[in-house]
Amino acid sequence: MNIQKIFKRAKDSLRRTVIPFNRKIREKFSRHDRGFLINRKKDEYGYLEEESFRDKIRKINIDSKVFYTVFIVAASLFCIIISQISPDSRFRTWYHSLKNKPIISKGIQLTEGKSVIDQQTGTFLTYYRFQGFGESDPTHIDSKAPMIALTFDDGPNPSSTQRILDVLDANYSHATFFVVGTNAENYPDMLKAISASGCELGNHSYNHKDLTTLSTSDVEEQIEKVNRAVKKATGENTTVIRPPYGAYNDKVIKQLEEPVILWDLDTEDWESRNAKKIVDAVMSQVKDGDIVLMHDIYDSTAEAVEILIPKLKEQGYQVVSVSELAKYKGKTLELDKAYGKIGGTAE
Ligand code: ZN
Repeated sequence: MNIQKIFKRAKDSLRRTVIPFNRKIREKFSRHDRGFLINRKKDEYGYLEEESFRDKIRKINIDSKVFYTVFIVAASLFCIIISQISPDSRFRTWYHSLKNKPIISKGIQLTEGKSVIDQQTGTFLTYYRFQGFGESDPTHIDSKAPMIALTFDDGPNPSSTQRILDVLDANYSHATFFVVGTNAENYPDMLKAISASGCELGNHSYNHKDLTTLSTSDVEEQIEKVNRAVKKATGENTTVIRPPYGAYNDKVIKQLEEPVILWDLDTEDWESRNAKKIVDAVMSQVKDGDIVLMHDIYDSTAEAVEILIPKLKEQGYQVVSVSELAKYKGKTLELDKAYGKIGGTAE
């Protein structure tokens, strides 16, 4: 048998089947066909001048373009909104359970997306990355693993505070910044940057006065002026207070309306101004639940933090803000109390 003959025969039989089928489909759907519509319009407007008929056709063409554009834009917007809604949305819960149906059917309890993904960073994409592909989520804080709070006093400072924020961000870590009012007023953009990075803003008094030497109204003024600057820049209040020099007494602590935070690991960075000494001070003493004292107004401290955070993470420490430390250690920070460390073994 001739190969060409076989091909020709196959082609012919295919044509015999396909062409009538195509015609059938076309007839069935011709009501939705634009050509059909135009022809019908031509019947309708047949009596009109050629020019005005062309106008009608142009209008039909524009109408369909507008329709498709609006449809595509609306569909894209819908997809974007659906994919970006908060991590604990119904959509994600549904998606999560759908993806894990085989696991659920075996009766294994799933971890809720809500607790796994940090609410501030949990977009659909991060959710998919960490849930869908099973990567471990770098923003997740394990309350059973060791953690410490880095705290920075006397800032903010546009150069060294920014360096510290950059290294915190790069390592999915947070810290608490106890700002003094004069710097807070001068650098509102730094306050915004601290708040935007998920870090905590604390009050360190307006101009670094020993609160135990002041009258009640002066203490109030020292605290209130900082709160005003922070509120003006970020829209939020400070959440914790560190009295300058760590100095407080019963009278002061009763007056303060936010928990008093001291420290239990002093890097003495203000004295040494030496990155290596600061790193050594932390690494030789650090333990779970520590609150570490530093000052974000020195370049040497910023340099130390750039070395410290990766080192701490390598050793299994999670670096968090003071309020996060309390939250994940299951402690409620109380007024009338001063905290040097939170949780940990030696408490
Ligand atoms: Zn200070």
